[in-house]
Amino acid sequence: MNTGTTRDASGYPHDRAYSPRTLAVHGAQLFDPVTGAVSTPVYQSATFRHPGLGQSTGFDYTRVTNPTRKALEDAVALLEKGTYGLAFSSGMGAVSAVIKLFRPGDHLIVSEDLYGGTYRLFNVYYRTYGYAFSWVDTSDFAKIEAAMRSETRGIFIETPSNPMMKVTDINRAADLIHKRGGLLVVDNTFLSPYFQNPLERGADMALHSGTKYLAGHNDALAGLIVHNSIALEEPLRGVQKSEGATLGPFDSWLTLRGLKTLAIRMERQNENAGRIAGWLRAHPLIEKVFYPGFSDHPQYRLSREQARGDGGMVSFYLKNPAHAPALLRSVRLILFAESLGGVESLLTYPLAQTHQAIPEAMRLSTGVNEKLMRLSVGIEDADDIIADLEQALIVCAREQP
Ligand SMILES: *Cc1c(COP(=O)(O)O)cnc(C)c1O
Repeated sequence: MNTGTTRDASGYPHDRAYSPRTLAVHGAQLFDPVTGAVSTPVYQSATFRHPGLGQSTGFDYTRVTNPTRKALEDAVALLEKGTYGLAFSSGMGAVSAVIKLFRPGDHLIVSEDLYGGTYRLFNVYYRTYGYAFSWVDTSDFAKIEAAMRSETRGIFIETPSNPMMKVTDINRAADLIHKRGGLLVVDNTFLSPYFQNPLERGADMALHSGTKYLAGHNDALAGLIVHNSIALEEPLRGVQKSEGATLGPFDSWLTLRGLKTLAIRMERQNENAGRIAGWLRAHPLIEKVFYPGFSDHPQYRLSREQARGDGGMVSFYLKNPAHAPALLRSVRLILFAESLGGVESLLTYPLAQTHQAIPEAMRLSTGVNEKLMRLSVGIEDADDIIADLEQALIVCAREQP
């Protein structure tokens, strides 16, 4: 018998606004409308038959659009509370598309501590093409204002920043750049749409390395851009299809599958990170812990206002930099590897890994030095992660008293 509930094309009943926890599981389409498949099929097809001249099923050629990729784009757009989603073959593919919205001669203000690959793309490539960048501590609004020039067309931030966990006021940055007719881009990789929605706070684009929390299992590379603007949709979609750094059907499916557990993963990672940050802070071999969930973090109140969680990332300084090699070698459960956001806890040494592309003087002034470690907290039991850090720090103390 018909229950009388009306469904729209998405398959969702109309009578309720679903929570992000639910939307993460089901995405933009509750089930496959053709077959009823619960898991979005992998449309592993490069091309699609045209019904007739000038006719299309909506899908013609996979570089341009593909049903599996579209399901992912729509799901992430839904979670980011945006209208349009675009999926790229990696986070850097997404950053590359964003930078093409600007022109030689334009000036952008960029968070000074951000993903090293973004720094390299802007500074090694785009700077030589005639773009200008100012690297600024964007958690200090006065410094953003001071960096503004008549040719400033964009602000590109990470908040919390990578790896120093500084928090930038998204609203204020958006207001400032909008007065000049420019764009605010927020790399929202660290908190994921589950904890932070930059578009709701005035950003023009939210960007993700989907490789991290969205896919969540250290098994696929992906990049996403979500935005609300019909004016941006044409140029962004144009770059996506013209340059071809699009996400393939199978990696789209892996990311969709990861996304289903985004909420429970983020909740566990957030909880684990809070416990581990507190434990590290009390350890005698640790000098300082960078974590936005501490009530004495410089932007604690702002962070709690613009985000719904503190995330799963914890950076810290060792008191003795000579302990770094021993720590990286001695962790047994935690893996010494470059990346973040997956279910496995990973320890990264930014100086030699993620931030190697950043010149020494700039790295040191932002605090990325030989004492700095970055821990991406996984979903393992927090006691096991702490026990691993504890035994590794005992090795450090023994080798370098
Ligand atoms: C990893 C990362 C990127 C780059 O993403 P890829 O998927 O590795 O290309 C960009 N921004 C942040 C914050 C990242 O952590």
